[in-house]
Amino acid sequence: MADRVLAAVRTGPSLIELQEFPMPDVPEDGALLRMEVAGICGTDVKMYKAPRVSEPVIMGHENVGVIAKAGTMFEELKGVGEGDRVFVEHYVACFNCEWCHLGQYRHCWATDWRSNPEALRYGYTPATRYPHLWGGFAEYLYLPWNAVLHRVPDAVSTELAGIATPLSNGIEWALFDCGVGFDSSVLIQGPGQQGLAQVVACKQAGASTIVVTGTSKDEARMEVAKVLGADFTIDVEREDTPARVAEITGGEGFDVVIDCTSGAGTAPILVGIQALKRKGGTLLIQGEIDEFPGFPIRELTEKAITIKSARGHSYRACELALGQLASTRFPLDLLTTHTFGLDEVDLAIRSVGGEGAPGVIHVSLLPGRERQTSGTEDRGEDQ
Ligand SMILES: [Zn+2]
Ligand SMILES: [Zn+2]
Repeated sequence: MADRVLAAVRTGPSLIELQEFPMPDVPEDGALLRMEVAGICGTDVKMYKAPRVSEPVIMGHENVGVIAKAGTMFEELKGVGEGDRVFVEHYVACFNCEWCHLGQYRHCWATDWRSNPEALRYGYTPATRYPHLWGGFAEYLYLPWNAVLHRVPDAVSTELAGIATPLSNGIEWALFDCGVGFDSSVLIQGPGQQGLAQVVACKQAGASTIVVTGTSKDEARMEVAKVLGADFTIDVEREDTPARVAEITGGEGFDVVIDCTSGAGTAPILVGIQALKRKGGTLLIQGEIDEFPGFPIRELTEKAITIKSARGHSYRACELALGQLASTRFPLDLLTTHTFGLDEVDLAIRSVGGEGAPGVIHVSLLPGRERQTSGTEDRGEDQ
């Protein structure tokens, strides 16, 4: 293995620098992952433009790679070793609390960077913290004993492995949080990577009516939504959404509404509350806004609506998502539109935010791509 690791480091708002870090020694209870693919999502766009920490950070929190080196204790504890291909949840958990025992590592305090300054989370933890490699936009990622790993089936291509996280979120939010299942009617707002992943989860679970909303610029994405299983799409700019909802649902409204819009303010939540069925619907929100003047709390209460919050994924959702990716049931390669190398992180993130490459649905970073073409990597030792 080389003795230096190349990484794309966020050094300030909308600033990326390629830097080298020393290849860390691998302790008995640790490992190094040679990065294969890092998915990029809307959170990266936000964190890139307006970082929450001033220290340098190697971003990349949706990581898949091959274990290049592992300590003996790590192999015993984790049941994986050198050469194994794994998806790494971004939560570095304590493995001791109630949430961890439930497989809900996302809620563990040890990874809660908002309330715990010592928290570890891939893509969020400053690169100043030893051994520095806490993000997937790098050649290698450090794995401590408490990283959360999932084996990735060989049948899953590199590009498909890059959408493991949105698909896990689709299963978590639609199926586990909102209870979508046989004969459910679902409105999914926003046809981006996350909305389309919800379509797949809902279709697989047996939903009878899946409707996706978008704007006029989303035409191509709406077509993909239909191929993946959406029964109808609504262009909220050109069509009368409440009228279409009434028409499609026979005046009944939806069992579940899932907000996967980005930067649309309060509008999708208002539409969602209105579009839900007369009593007992479920609304999944993402909470992108600080305040909500005129929130229709009376209507919400009178319709007996349950609100769920979109918060990552559980261990089980990841396992199901990886199984889904390995199957060929859905043409999921329609989602994997763009890949970039380690020297193109800025363009990759901007493309997800709609300010880079055109026609984007999902973007992945391939940190090994540059090395493959330059041929400088000593691959033999890693296998
Ligand atoms: Zn993400
Ligand atoms: Zn825990």
